[in-house]
Amino acid sequence: MALGLFNSLVGKVQYITKPLLPVLWIPLIYVILGSMGLIVNLWTTGDMLNDEQHNKEPTSPETFDFIVVGAGSAGAVVANRLSKKYRVLLLEAGGEPNPLQYIPGFGVFFINYAETDWMYKTQSSWSAGRGLGGTGSINFMIHLRGHRKDFDNWGRITGDQSWSWEGVLPYFKSYEDYEEDGDPRYHGFGGDLRVEQPDYIGMGPEFVRAGQELGYSHCDLNAPFTEGFDILKYPIKDGIRQGTYKAFLEPIRRLRAKLVIRKYAHVNRTWCNKTKPLHPRKLFYPLNREHCQLLMLSGIGPRAHLQDQGIPVLVDLPVGLNLQDHIAAYVGPFFIDKPRALTLERDLTPTAVVQWILGGKGVLSTTGCHASGIISSSFAKARGEGDWPDIQYFLLGFSTFKTFGATIAHSFGLKADEQKRYYEHAIDKESFVVAVSGARPFSRGFIKWRKIARTTSRKLTPVFLTQVIRFVSMIEGIKILLYSLQYTTMLWDHD
Ligand SMILES: Cc1cc2nc3c(=O)[nH]c(=O)nc-3n(C[C@H](O)[C@H](O)[C@H](O)COP(=O)(O)OP(=O)(O)OC[C@H]3O[C@@H](n4cnc5c(N)ncnc54)[C@H](O)[C@@H]3O)c2cc1C
Repeated sequence: MALGLFNSLVGKVQYITKPLLPVLWIPLIYVILGSMGLIVNLWTTGDMLNDEQHNKEPTSPETFDFIVVGAGSAGAVVANRLSKKYRVLLLEAGGEPNPLQYIPGFGVFFINYAETDWMYKTQSSWSAGRGLGGTGSINFMIHLRGHRKDFDNWGRITGDQSWSWEGVLPYFKSYEDYEEDGDPRYHGFGGDLRVEQPDYIGMGPEFVRAGQELGYSHCDLNAPFTEGFDILKYPIKDGIRQGTYKAFLEPIRRLRAKLVIRKYAHVNRTWCNKTKPLHPRKLFYPLNREHCQLLMLSGIGPRAHLQDQGIPVLVDLPVGLNLQDHIAAYVGPFFIDKPRALTLERDLTPTAVVQWILGGKGVLSTTGCHASGIISSSFAKARGEGDWPDIQYFLLGFSTFKTFGATIAHSFGLKADEQKRYYEHAIDKESFVVAVSGARPFSRGFIKWRKIARTTSRKLTPVFLTQVIRFVSMIEGIKILLYSLQYTTMLWDHD
């Protein structure tokens, strides 16, 4: 009954709005996309003014059991859990997420704005979310825990089995509210974070089938597996981005007196009691790039770099010396002749908006990342690590729209002219891209910082692909992808 009503409403909207699409709707979409900078800025300015008015500085000193710096993916969960029992102050440099950030389909449009992103500079730009929810408010929403072997390796390196797969599994299960068909041995139900498959999955099934035709299994990539392919799951509820803010902070922020959140509170330094020496094991920070700078400014190491910058050294720890990320090559666009990819001008209609608002369904429920494959290169196999994959594929099922080149250039800090020229030929053609990524980065970069006048500036040196083996395994990953597109049924037999 409800579904019938829903469909009839969607049908009516479709009928009424069809003639308006080319003259009003499509130009409006491009105006919105072109004004993202302004939209983000107006929202943050309004939120700051509101914050100033309603969150006055405390007139008397406050005491807390814990201070958590950063309300991002890790900080939000830590603050939630600790404030069940202790008084917690959560300090976040950014502000309230923009309501549009909850729409998965808008994911990529919030990257690289100073209000929502730290916009680190390396050779190009390196994003990290700013504001409640941190990077989880701007990321692509792919919910992948990591391979069993990665965790077991942590257990081995630390000598502490609580970091191994078996050790961390209860924690994964404790926060999850996994979709109904999840295997209870590996998934939790009823936790704070809803995890499910988004309504729109594009060519995901064809991609998974291609993997099967190459001999890989179709398996749950969040459970123990060796190599395999699957449709991606998102942290999403009724089509709305969950992220750690929505799941762990929003429901409790006005109810739990023990938790105090201060927005626009940029922490520059932490103080330690010098008479009580710090034990390295007590220093558990949810470390990201910004926190490294905070630790360095607080004298936590590394000694030589701090002495170079004239900072008193409290402890000599290797802060900032283990910088790693997984680099990806975006291969495509590949053209298809059936309407199976997300095509902005055709699919982002008023009907799609109604579908999303009423039921969290349709193309707005996806960031465009539909499926993944995780496999081992022949180099991993030759090292005897065939059960520890080093290549990962992401199917990005969106066609190139008119301002695609400019959007990609803005989001990833690339040269706009080159991107526009590269994507010119693909505009408005049904197509998809596959990101080929290194699942196990071997190179290690570093973070340093410098004082310039009264400000500080970070220097991130990622040192990607310095290991030849990493480079050749990425190339092998691209070759396997091209082979699969040529020799499996993916491109010519659509569901
Ligand atoms: C474009 C993009 C897409 C991604 N897509 C995915 C994906 O699909 N799936 C996935 O699993 N991962 C993805 N990631 C990675 C993932 O989102 C991050 O690894 C993860 O969110 C990091 O969590 P965190 O808690 O370490 O840091 P963050 O979530 O970045 O949180 C750090 C928080 O601390 C605040 N902060 C920092 N310094 C200070 C300070 N000095 N004072 C006060 N506050 C401070 C920041 O503003 C931020 O809110 C993506 C990353 C990017 C950039």
